[in-house]
Amino acid sequence: MLFSEVIVSQHVKNMLINTVKNKRVSHAQMFLCQAGMPGLALALAYCQYISCQNPSETDACGECASCVKFNNLVHADMHFLFPYENSATGKRNMASYLSQWRELVKEKKGMITQYQWAEYIKAEKSLAIYERDITDLISVLQSKPYESEYRFVIIWLPERMNETAANKLLKTLEEPDGKTLIILVSENTDKILPTILSRTQILKINKLPVEEFVSTVSELIGCDSEKARMIGYITDFNLQQALEMGVNVVDADNYEYFVNMMRLAYALYYIPAHKVDFKAVETWLTTMGKMEKEACVNYLKYSLNMIRKCMVLNTDAAAMIQFASNEEKFLKSFSPFVNLDNGRAIMNILDDAVKNMTVYNADIKMLFTDVLLQIGKLLVKKGQ
Ligand SMILES: [Zn+2]
Repeated sequence: MLFSEVIVSQHVKNMLINTVKNKRVSHAQMFLCQAGMPGLALALAYCQYISCQNPSETDACGECASCVKFNNLVHADMHFLFPYENSATGKRNMASYLSQWRELVKEKKGMITQYQWAEYIKAEKSLAIYERDITDLISVLQSKPYESEYRFVIIWLPERMNETAANKLLKTLEEPDGKTLIILVSENTDKILPTILSRTQILKINKLPVEEFVSTVSELIGCDSEKARMIGYITDFNLQQALEMGVNVVDADNYEYFVNMMRLAYALYYIPAHKVDFKAVETWLTTMGKMEKEACVNYLKYSLNMIRKCMVLNTDAAAMIQFASNEEKFLKSFSPFVNLDNGRAIMNILDDAVKNMTVYNADIKMLFTDVLLQIGKLLVKKGQ
């Protein structure tokens, strides 16, 4: 991975490049990444730059023996720790996932999400980094680097370590070997032991400013800036999500589906049963059931954003919301049924639906039946 391929501000890249030029590379660093920003890609580019045999002022050469190995994620001094699913028999360890890890990271150029990874390895339960992985890492670190001046360790999502594993890692961070660079790439430092945090140098990777987001997205997915801005509203300016969903997310039908979903959910709980138009419910569910999985996930994300807007509409920050042209009227009349409490609960339902669809491959029609009933129940609370 080259710095030029990583979409973060030049300022952040310069800071890292300067640590190399000034020979001040800290042995333990934490890249704190806001959702959707390429922390893993940046960590890879940084390691590749340090190890490059012919670096320029601003980037690795991309061609030397070291760079070629980094490009393929097979450099002998580059080690990865990432969360994975421990099978019931305990037979699968981190090493058994390594080839899948390399494939996905290469394919996505280091911009991967937890959901994508879980889906890629067909995980059925939650992913973690275990104590034995830290034990393995420690034994690897006891040998000398093979080819580079440094040994590199990238720990993706250290918040997924359990406490025993984290305590074990702590010792390694406390007793640095001058030739080891450990980079922890985290999306949520709230879940990391404070003792680990205090032993790392933290680099925050913030979201791109709106205008930069718009120009980047329109260039990378080849659309005009108005469409890129719309994608921003829908994805909450989450770059990774925007690039993943592409222009398809701006699906005019999503608005209609959302309005219908909320009207039907409301009717199921508010209107006397004999007056409910069950045919309309069935039609809506059938339409959803026929959608491709990817389109459904996009629709759910769109709905999440609409609920978020409803919640904001009920606060002092309402003036800051930017609406797509057709949304404003409906959201203003609908937002009184969504407050901060049930709004959060509805977002959890939609979030779970995304997860059930991506990780567990749930039946779409069944899933939307459940979503409809659960949301209806929550909307009723407002009227009571
Ligand atoms: Zn090179």
